[in-house]
Amino acid sequence: MGPVDLAHLTRYPFHPDAATYLKEQGLSAEELLKDRAFQRARTLGQQRVLKGLAEGVVDAPNTGSPVECQLELLGYVISRMIVATIGDRYLTNRMAIAESKRTSELLEGEEPRLLVTLAHTQGLGLTLNGGRLGVPVAQFLHGTRNMRDRNWKLVNMPLADGEVGLDRMKAIRLLEAVVQERYQDHLPSRPPDWVEEALSEALVQVRIHLAAARAHFQPLEMGEVDSASFPPCIKGIFGMMQAHENVSHMGRFALVSFLNNVGMDKDQIFEFFRMVPDFNVEKSRYQIEHIIGDISGTAYTAPECSTMKTHGICINPDELCGRPWMTHPLKYYRAKLRQQAKGGPAADGAAETATPTASDSPSGHPPTKGQENEG
Ligand code: SF4
Repeated sequence: MGPVDLAHLTRYPFHPDAATYLKEQGLSAEELLKDRAFQRARTLGQQRVLKGLAEGVVDAPNTGSPVECQLELLGYVISRMIVATIGDRYLTNRMAIAESKRTSELLEGEEPRLLVTLAHTQGLGLTLNGGRLGVPVAQFLHGTRNMRDRNWKLVNMPLADGEVGLDRMKAIRLLEAVVQERYQDHLPSRPPDWVEEALSEALVQVRIHLAAARAHFQPLEMGEVDSASFPPCIKGIFGMMQAHENVSHMGRFALVSFLNNVGMDKDQIFEFFRMVPDFNVEKSRYQIEHIIGDISGTAYTAPECSTMKTHGICINPDELCGRPWMTHPLKYYRAKLRQQAKGGPAADGAAETATPTASDSPSGHPPTKGQENEG
């Protein structure tokens, strides 16, 4: 291995050269986990996981000196051991998001050439030709398969010679998705028992915080709201959140506005959001309060079916969704409630009087201020 840019490796600790560098130091796992000389690295590893778990972020690396760089790198290794040992899907996803988001933030200050080099180490064939970034179509489709925003749809992207053209921010976002996926897929296998023993102090701390976070995932009391009557799209988005998958901005908007429209109170909606791996207290509270009208003074209506389809969040539509008059998830909800009250089939379209207002946004964007709730 040639000359090492330790600060660079510390910023991007998933770079294969970081593992090579640490291997060349001849440090054994036993020394790392037991030797007093590495207590600081173990503390950094524990702090990294606790911060990622609590706040969904990882601190910017300390690259002040070679010693600090090495400790940061070792802290990263230990944090992955902790995550692998606990083996919890939510924790793994949350750390993967925290680590990949930190990568994106750091990449915003880097030259495009470095972006390309780093992408290649992660198996992403990013290219740079005449200042233009691109990626093979197949890799673009794979990397964006969970991105529902229409700005990421292939039909809206420039295509040439089998490559998708990307602006700088999109290239960074794509690399972020790859880093996130690789964090989840390349986690070390569950370490042997002696590692668990050596890490016991850190594991106890992380498990306590994880249990506290889990307490928020318990089934929620929905009061008057009948969740069994929710349309498949809303159940689908909710299911993604329960599986700790990342839900798109429009998915969150649809869920919050729908839950608010059917009468769920703000605190209950907020509790739902604790299930999301990139949950952030302040951000989530702001988003919810904005959508339900606490900030803007106007509550938004859930998007209509056509908008949900455009954004790829019309999930598992059923027979009722196929009725000609079915144009809105709130119509679905009311029809289901009537169906259950009568103990019979779903209401006919002629009986459907709850018509969505113009506040639904056919454009796919949240409605503008001044529009009213769906009645
Ligand atoms: S058709 Fe409408 S109500 Fe049914 S799943 Fe799709 S968006 Fe939801």
